[in-house]
Amino acid sequence: MTSPQPLPHLSSLPPYVPGRPPTAPPGVTPYKLSSNENPYPPLPGVLEAAEQAVATMNRYPDMGSVALYRALADRLDVVPEQLSLGTGSTAVLFGLLTAFCGPGDEVVMPWRSFEAYPIAITVAGATPVPVPLTADARHDLAAMAAAVTERTKVVLLCTPNNPTGPALSATEVRGFLAAVPEHVLVVVDEAYLEFVRAEDPVDGIALVGERSNVAVVRTFSKAYGLAGLRVGYLASTPEIAAAVRSVALPFGVSTAAQAAAVASLQAETALRARVDLLVDERERLVKSLAEIGWQVPEAQGNFVWLGVGDRTAEIAAACDAVGLSVRAFAGEGVRITVGEAEANRRVVEVLSRLEP
Ligand SMILES: *Cc1c(COP(=O)(O)O)cnc(C)c1O
Repeated sequence: MTSPQPLPHLSSLPPYVPGRPPTAPPGVTPYKLSSNENPYPPLPGVLEAAEQAVATMNRYPDMGSVALYRALADRLDVVPEQLSLGTGSTAVLFGLLTAFCGPGDEVVMPWRSFEAYPIAITVAGATPVPVPLTADARHDLAAMAAAVTERTKVVLLCTPNNPTGPALSATEVRGFLAAVPEHVLVVVDEAYLEFVRAEDPVDGIALVGERSNVAVVRTFSKAYGLAGLRVGYLASTPEIAAAVRSVALPFGVSTAAQAAAVASLQAETALRARVDLLVDERERLVKSLAEIGWQVPEAQGNFVWLGVGDRTAEIAAACDAVGLSVRAFAGEGVRITVGEAEANRRVVEVLSRLEP
């Protein structure tokens, strides 16, 4: 062997497949429904705040992100020491796994779930232990608790689950926490928290207050519509947050991202109104799909899941052909983001021409 070789465990890394941009036939407006992005423009005041920040691009960002830590701590009613910011919650998850596990350690995760999980676990050198979802596309919490061994360092919960949609209840999560040893770190990924309209919703921050082995990760990418700026965070105990901060890239969160996130937190009323619009669209979409024979699992995020198995490629291609890019998981199903009213109408239209 003469050339430099990367670590051997990296050869088993699954690829992260990004949602594709749409390719529309002539005269048809394309819609990107493949990455669970927010279809709306920035919240009031956010573009202005980001523009002002961009004007200082010759300077490094505030490495301590002081204003954003302060604003988030106030909003969540925690102290800033309980938080760790990152370039999206994906980066926070990578940092957390790097800080808490390594070779020989296991991480229990639901599967199918967020595709960054097995990548982040493998990069950390640890072993993913995927636990299949139930038939109704929910976490199998009993099986996940049973999968915890003396090698388990971390358990990942994703609520609502991307890409299938169901949310966990607070009672379910509390029951799970009671069944897991205290030295195992339980991570609650609440990327779609704002869209949840289920009874007994999980409030990760409340769980952090109750236990010393819970971390919540949240993002500004989905409800807040800042996916392109890359900012997310973890909330946990001061000790866990400090460990995650210690492995974060210096100066990761840009000045524009910090400013946009602070301004977004000040636009809470407008945020709620937009999230309500998307939730209304989601409910309409689920109902219309049911009327034409397509049953989808409980949809608590800004997306719906068609667990169509072998027909995944066919259905994704039919959407593609009319300018709707959706996210296909080969052999498993299709995830469709709730978009603008017109995009959702077109989803129903194309699916009404296919056999459910
Ligand atoms: C989108 C998403 C994230 C975070 O995305 P970032 O843009 O990196 O903040 C995290 N978890 C899940 C389940 C997601 O779907």
